[in-house]
Amino acid sequence: MSTVTGREPRGLPVAGPSRTFRAALRLVRLDGRAFAAMIGLNALAAGAGLVGPWLLGRIVDEVVAGGGAAAVDRLALALLGFAVAQLLLVRWAGSVGHRFGERALARIREEFTERTLALPARVAERAGTGDLLTRGTTDVALVGATLRDAGPEVLISSVQALFIVGAVVALDPLLGVCGVLGLTGIWFAARWYLRRAPAAYLAEGRANSALAQQLAETARGARTVEALGLQERRIAACGAAAEECLRTRTRTLFLRSVLFPAIDVSYVVPVAGVLLLGGVLHARGAVSIGAVVAAALYLRQLSQPLDTVLQRLEQLQSSGASFARVEGVGSTAHVPQPSPVPVPEAASVPADGRIEVRGVSYAYDGGDDVLRGVDLTVRAGERLAVVGPSGAGKTTLGRLLAGLDAPRTGSVTVRRAPVAGPVAGPAAERPRRQVVLVTQEQHVFLGTLRDNLRIAAPDADDAELRAALAAVGVDDGAEWLPDGLDTDLGPGAHRPDGARAQQLALARVVLADPHALVLDEATALLDPGTARHTERALAAVLAGRTVVAVAHRLQTAHDADRVAVMEDGRITELGTHDELVAAGGTYAALWRSWHGGGGPSPAA
Ligand code: ADP
Repeated sequence: MSTVTGREPRGLPVAGPSRTFRAALRLVRLDGRAFAAMIGLNALAAGAGLVGPWLLGRIVDEVVAGGGAAAVDRLALALLGFAVAQLLLVRWAGSVGHRFGERALARIREEFTERTLALPARVAERAGTGDLLTRGTTDVALVGATLRDAGPEVLISSVQALFIVGAVVALDPLLGVCGVLGLTGIWFAARWYLRRAPAAYLAEGRANSALAQQLAETARGARTVEALGLQERRIAACGAAAEECLRTRTRTLFLRSVLFPAIDVSYVVPVAGVLLLGGVLHARGAVSIGAVVAAALYLRQLSQPLDTVLQRLEQLQSSGASFARVEGVGSTAHVPQPSPVPVPEAASVPADGRIEVRGVSYAYDGGDDVLRGVDLTVRAGERLAVVGPSGAGKTTLGRLLAGLDAPRTGSVTVRRAPVAGPVAGPAAERPRRQVVLVTQEQHVFLGTLRDNLRIAAPDADDAELRAALAAVGVDDGAEWLPDGLDTDLGPGAHRPDGARAQQLALARVVLADPHALVLDEATALLDPGTARHTERALAAVLAGRTVVAVAHRLQTAHDADRVAVMEDGRITELGTHDELVAAGGTYAALWRSWHGGGGPSPAA
């Protein structure tokens, strides 16, 4: 999946508008009371804000009518009271809104983490770290900021704007119609913007991800880049990604640079219209001066909430795109697993945990089938070696056996349960992995030795952890573990060397206690420097379990209970070493040429 040579990884999907909308609705429903409180408080605050201009209008009318100072004072005092009430209500509504936003953000974060962990291994590999990282950091942060600030603000402002327009209409319907007509410019400008903005912001998000991906890959593959002299190519690839970023950003900037000036002009139109019309109406005695003043003040007031909405529109647009990208991770989280082949009555189901492969076909990314109708039963406790020419599909079969991928058709089951499937959900409820792929991976996580081991078995106690370490030949009092199980491991703390890390990885396998292991010789534990250490550890891990070895050395096949020969995506021979040699087929030929020549394995 490396893009060191410039190959683009495929991004993760982006959720469609309806899925994104449903997800947003769900967030609201999950915290419905807080959301309702936020709306209610905002409505009250907006209502309190409306009283001000109306009271001012009354004061004007009072003065025009030659009313006394006492009446004006009373009105002014009421004005002050409502202003204070509005202030308090807005603050209250704001704090309810912020808390709602923070809780929603926490939910999004948790779900994102769960979905990322539930991604099928191949989807995550294909997507690349850059894309996942950008979605998990930039996109989630943007959605969070919107939920916390922009969302509540837009809500408050929309409610205020609606109330204000309603108030003008209530003062005088004709003035109200005039004000609303004056606002249509804003509507056209916003519509023009909204039609173009989603695509533009999605493109910007994609370009950001691509740039992050290129930079991350270049940094991670730095040695390879240097060794193969790929610097020029990498610089060109990063340059192209940066240019695409610039292009997409310029596009969104252009959209904003049209929207905002158009809106500024649009604010003046309704106020001017109402003053003109109000003058004419007043001359005919149809409205009081106070009403015209109040209407003009309302429409002036309108610019503030509308400004907020329009300024935040941009953020809503881009965070809508971000939310679609975050939600998109969920749409691939669950690989459809074809229902297992019908198995007769439960009573006749073998309880021995053998792995049943039935009619399995598999293709990478819509390409040709690399496995074609594979049927295989791996008996409990047996050692099965899979041999065959390179590209025959052995590794692919191993991945399906270990449940890292689901077959395109057919099924891979243990006790009728598919080995591949969603592993999301609380750790305690996840089915224990029946089959585990043993790889060369020796990742040491930041944390104590105990944390590192408990990843595989969250409920294991110290005695079990020690037993697992002992099984793979590690004594937890060893001098490289100064604090035993409490020793801090990982970058910046104690860093075990390759052999130790492999031992820890194997101890995790012991703790996971799978029924079966898939061992790919091409990738598993072949570091010559550590072979001696790990061979014994590996033997301890394999003991008492079903083992499927993707064999690249015929010696492994010789030592196995049975041998399966794969050719061109099919199993063409299956039997013990002796049977297959006696049968005189492909395996016999491989064995003869290897054994006779004593040379390197022809199977690899
Ligand atoms: P083997 O382990 O027997 O060498 P593999 O299972 O690795 O065979 O490969 C079987 C076929 O699938 C080959 O044609 C290979 O090119 C193809 N293949 C393997 N991995 C991928 C992948 N990640 N994407 C696309 N094709 C792949």
